[in-house]
Amino acid sequence: MNVLLFRPRPDKETIGLQNVMICEPLELEYIAANIEPLGHTCTIIDMIIEKKDVTYFVKEYNPDVVGITGYISHVNIMKDYAKKAKEVNPLIKTIIGGVHAEVNPGDFESEYVDYIIRANGIRTFIDILNSLEGKNSNDEIECVYAKDRPAPKKDTSFDYRFPAREKVDAYRSKYYYMFHRNCSLIKTSFGCPYNCKFCFCRQIMDDQYFARSLENIADELEEVKETEIYIVDDDFLVGRQRILDFCDLLEKRDIHKKYLIYGRADFIAANEDVIKRFKEVGLRAVIVGLESCDSKQLDDYNKRTNVEINERAVGILKKYDVECYGTFILGLDWTWADFSALYKWIKKLDLVFVNLQPLTPLRGTDIYEKYKPRFIVREDEYEKWDLAHLVVEPDHISVRKYYWYTMVLYYLITANPVSWWYMVKKYGLHDTLKLTIGAGRVNTQYWKKLIKGEG
Ligand code: SF4
Repeated sequence: MNVLLFRPRPDKETIGLQNVMICEPLELEYIAANIEPLGHTCTIIDMIIEKKDVTYFVKEYNPDVVGITGYISHVNIMKDYAKKAKEVNPLIKTIIGGVHAEVNPGDFESEYVDYIIRANGIRTFIDILNSLEGKNSNDEIECVYAKDRPAPKKDTSFDYRFPAREKVDAYRSKYYYMFHRNCSLIKTSFGCPYNCKFCFCRQIMDDQYFARSLENIADELEEVKETEIYIVDDDFLVGRQRILDFCDLLEKRDIHKKYLIYGRADFIAANEDVIKRFKEVGLRAVIVGLESCDSKQLDDYNKRTNVEINERAVGILKKYDVECYGTFILGLDWTWADFSALYKWIKKLDLVFVNLQPLTPLRGTDIYEKYKPRFIVREDEYEKWDLAHLVVEPDHISVRKYYWYTMVLYYLITANPVSWWYMVKKYGLHDTLKLTIGAGRVNTQYWKKLIKGEG
């Protein structure tokens, strides 16, 4: 069958990380790699980069099947792509996948959507193609969403061909993550062993966690041409021995890459020697969910860390010249005093790169029901559920003030001349300018929110 896969372009309303990063569509590359050996042909279209619209590509490639992936903020766009595909040719079968579809499949119900993948994306995609070719019946595809069918079990192993990275060769030079240019993605584990209350990640794997074998990961790394590697595990720093073994294996197999990873503060704080070792074999930056400068708040989030642990972790990363990208949650009960306290704490730690997110109770998380009565953004305005819009009425300050304080914090921490000069010295003028332009676009989006004074 002729399969056309789309990665959607975010809506204009979505406050976009795509302004400071565009990463390859790894999940679509996995689909391509695993269906083509079965006799299908597959093309990936990255709509973030393409200028033409979906209709053009559907006419151009004349597919039997259109597959679309995305996150919560893409729901309406994904359904619109399916509609456009059917308008070109009603016989095209449309398949929806991605993490939001797995947790909240009902959001994609539409006369234009034929299949919603509920679990085990690659295997289920193959099952659907088999069914379309008459090799099995629709009833046998247990992981496709059907209203009254119970949620299927998630696989706890991952035995698939490596992603077909060459499928996005035409876009490759456009992919980057902040200062990590020509950056390739790799996924080495699934799920997260922790259970922070606000986190959507653990819903995706039904609280299960499993990791690929290190040898298998090294095999994949050897095939990747790019030297910048973004390991997109929810938490790569799980298991001290695993990380040490990983470092040894990189050395043994002569693999020389630079790594950007997600890691928890408590691991970093308790394993300085592991960070030192990992740095020797290429660790370049860690995205750390620091979340708060208040231990009580960290307890409320069930983060299982505290402020001292956070400070120690940031200090260790600094000591070994590993960049720390700190992510923070802005409380809904905050006043200027709380914003100001966070600013002072971040300044004390000398952090330059931060991501500030208002607490967002995504459907599927533990905190959803508690905040639902106070939503100021409708749940079907998916494009605003981007972890940057304020979706809940704040307790003590207006929406306008909330956005203003957020912008002030960004300015004081990242977008000021001192931080700018730090970036130029460390990463060069070209990349700093590129990031500055992207950040400027995000800033414009915040200004619009502030002027309108709405979520
Ligand atoms: S926030 Fe991080 S550590 Fe906590 S559950 Fe989510 S992925 Fe795991």
